[in-house]
Amino acid sequence: SGPGRWLRAHLSKDEGGALCALEDRTRDVRAQQMRTDFVANASHELRTPLASIMGFIDTLSGPARDDPEAQARFLAIMRAQAERMSRLVDDLLSLSRIELDEHVPPSGRLDLHAAAREAAAAFEPMARARGVTIELAAPEPGPVVRADRDQLAQALGNLIENALKYGGGKPVRVRPAPADPLRPRMAGICVEDQGEGVAREHIPRLTERFYRVSVKRSRDQGGTGLGLAIVKHIMTRHRGELQIESAPGRGSRFTLWLPLAD
Ligand code: ADP
Repeated sequence: SGPGRWLRAHLSKDEGGALCALEDRTRDVRAQQMRTDFVANASHELRTPLASIMGFIDTLSGPARDDPEAQARFLAIMRAQAERMSRLVDDLLSLSRIELDEHVPPSGRLDLHAAAREAAAAFEPMARARGVTIELAAPEPGPVVRADRDQLAQALGNLIENALKYGGGKPVRVRPAPADPLRPRMAGICVEDQGEGVAREHIPRLTERFYRVSVKRSRDQGGTGLGLAIVKHIMTRHRGELQIESAPGRGSRFTLWLPLAD
């Protein structure tokens, strides 16, 4: 880090050692703080729908007891809130499972384009329900990458789902990334939308757990705020990378970069 490097250049050997210890402590404290924030955020996210469900239980067993029309309406809301809790729990479990074996690189070898075709096909029903077309370009055969099949499917799925949610109803494109000389031993696949896009200052934070540009928009779309954090962790485990390019009003491009198999 900047000041650390400057200081170290001006310190004796002993003082330098002390500085390293201090930096380690700072990192520990920060990691601990992030864990505490995460548990607090997760609890809050679960408590909100839970409070709503409990409120409706009281209403249904009291004031709305003899009002079948209100009962039907409240039950529908309760179901939606329970589904939201269920999505959150699924995403939390996914995250912790991925983190658990983050240091074990995947051993599978997969055709990246075949994975993209399968992911696009899996989201065809959701796209159709929203009147959105998925434009797929994934020529056969594609590059062979080192990846875990389920995790790659999950990463691609999360990106396609976001493009459908935030893409403003315009076509979503899934296509190979052009070769990048800065990433010589990697192959990439892009998911592009022409939706609202994201302002520059938000981009580095999108992969933080529970970070959303608009909490209301995310909620309305059934989001948990964990999708991109999951993608990022999957890419870390794969020694790959999630590249995010976006401009407000122009749309977004999310690219998964994965190491080529030998
Ligand atoms: P969420 O469940 O809220 O969609 P994600 O982790 O998947 O959570 O995404 C975090 C936030 O990033 C979203 O709430 C949204 O603000 C922004 N975002 C993600 N994908 C897109 C996209 N394709 N276009 C615009 N904004 C996006």
